[in-house]
Amino acid sequence: MPKITEGAVDNMTLEQKLDLLITLAGDDHDGANGKDRTLPPRLRHTKDVGALRPLNIRDLRVPGKGKVSLLRILMTNACSFNCHYCPMRRDRDMPRTLLKPEELVKIFLDAHRRGWCSGLFITTGIPGRPEKVMDDLIAVLELLRGRYAFAGYVHVKMVPGGQAAQVERLTALASRVSVNLEAPCGNSLVRIAPEKNLDTTLTGLRQARRLVRREQLERREGKPADPLRPGGASGMTMQFVVGATPDSDRTLLGKVTELYAGGGVHHAHFSAFRPIRDTPMESTPETPVLREQRLYQADYLLRQYGFGADEVVFDGTGNMPLGNDPKTTWALAHPERFPVEVRTAAYEELVRVPGIGPGSARRIVAERGTTVFRGLADLRKLGVVGTRAAGFLTLGGRRLQDVRWAEQLGFWGADDDTGKYHLTYGVSPGTFR
Ligand code: SF4
Repeated sequence: MPKITEGAVDNMTLEQKLDLLITLAGDDHDGANGKDRTLPPRLRHTKDVGALRPLNIRDLRVPGKGKVSLLRILMTNACSFNCHYCPMRRDRDMPRTLLKPEELVKIFLDAHRRGWCSGLFITTGIPGRPEKVMDDLIAVLELLRGRYAFAGYVHVKMVPGGQAAQVERLTALASRVSVNLEAPCGNSLVRIAPEKNLDTTLTGLRQARRLVRREQLERREGKPADPLRPGGASGMTMQFVVGATPDSDRTLLGKVTELYAGGGVHHAHFSAFRPIRDTPMESTPETPVLREQRLYQADYLLRQYGFGADEVVFDGTGNMPLGNDPKTTWALAHPERFPVEVRTAAYEELVRVPGIGPGSARRIVAERGTTVFRGLADLRKLGVVGTRAAGFLTLGGRRLQDVRWAEQLGFWGADDDTGKYHLTYGVSPGTFR
C-alpha cells in the first residue's frame, strides 16, 4: 500500500470531497438511543436537487449558547497513522481526499447562510506532520474569526504532537477543543495504536486546559466574553474507544475522574468499539452499545449527581452490570439508604433516587414548602419518573410502591445477545465526538 504523504491525496471536485468527508460521519451518534440517525427532511435529498451535498448535522446543547446545530466535517480522511481499529488507517484501501482551509470555510459558511447549521465541528486524519495539520486547523479558524467575523460555536479536534504555540492559537480561537485519548493508559493504547503515545496526547490536553481554565477564571472575574476569541471557554472534551482494549469501566472512569480534577474538561465521550472491515481488528467482537450508554450515565453521576468514582458499582471484572443503569444498580446495592421521604429528604438524598434528576430534585425541595404532595401524580408533574422512583420513596411515611421497578425486570438479560452475531462496519463511532 502506498504511503500517504502531504499533498498526495487530492484529485477530486469539491462535490466528491464532500461526499466522502461529510457522509463518513453519518453513523456516529452517542449512546444506544440513536436519536440523531436521521438527517432533517430538507437535507436528506439535497443531492437529488443539485444543492449542496447532504450535510452531517447534529444538534447539541452548549452551556451559555442554548441549542447549536453543528455541521460535522472531516478536513481529511487521509492519515499517516495505522491505528488498528480505524477505518482511515494508512494501510486501508479507500478513496482519500482533503479540504483546503478555504474550501472548508466556504462549505460551512454556505450551509450557515442557508440556515442549515449554526456551528461547526472539525476533525481530521493526520497525513504527514502533525504541525502541518495544526496549521491548517488554525487557518480555518483564522479565516472564520478574522476574515469572516464568524462569532458562533466552533469545536476543533486537536491532533497530538502540535507545538505549544499552535495549541495556544487554536484554543484562543475555538469555542471548544478536544482530544482523542482512545485508551486510559499508554500500555493498552499501543496495543491498538502502535504509533501513538498517550503522553504526547496528554501533553496537548494539559496545555489546552491550562488556557481554558485561565479563560474561564478571567470570565468569572468579570472579563467580557469575546465571541471572536472564545478561548475554549466551553471546556474541553476527550474521547475513549471502549472495548478495543481490555481496560475496564473502573479504569476508564478512574482516568476520567483524574482528568476532571485538573479542571478545564467539560465531559468525556465513550465510543463502543466496532470491528471495521479490512482492519487488523476486523474479527474482534463488537462492544455492546449499552456499555457505552452505561459509561455516559455513570459520567453524569460523577459530574451532576454528586457521586464519587468509588461509589459506582462494578462487577467482578471491573465493569458495570448492563442490566440496570448505574444509579439503579447503586440504589439496589444500598438498601440502607432507602426509602427516602419526599417531604423531608435533602436535595442530595433525593437526587440519588432512580427516576429523580437534579431538576426534579430541585423542584421538589422548592415546592414542598408551599405545596402538600398527595401522591405520585404530584411528583410526576415535577418531572419525576414515577415508575422508576416509586419503589424507593415514601410520602408522609407511606410507601408509594411495594415492589421496585428494577426488581420486576429481569426476564432476559441486557447482554443476552452479546457475541451472538458478528457484524463488521465501514465507519467507526467516535470520530465526530
Ligand atoms: S485514529 Fe486518527 S490517527 Fe489513528 S489512523 Fe485513525 S485518523 Fe489516523
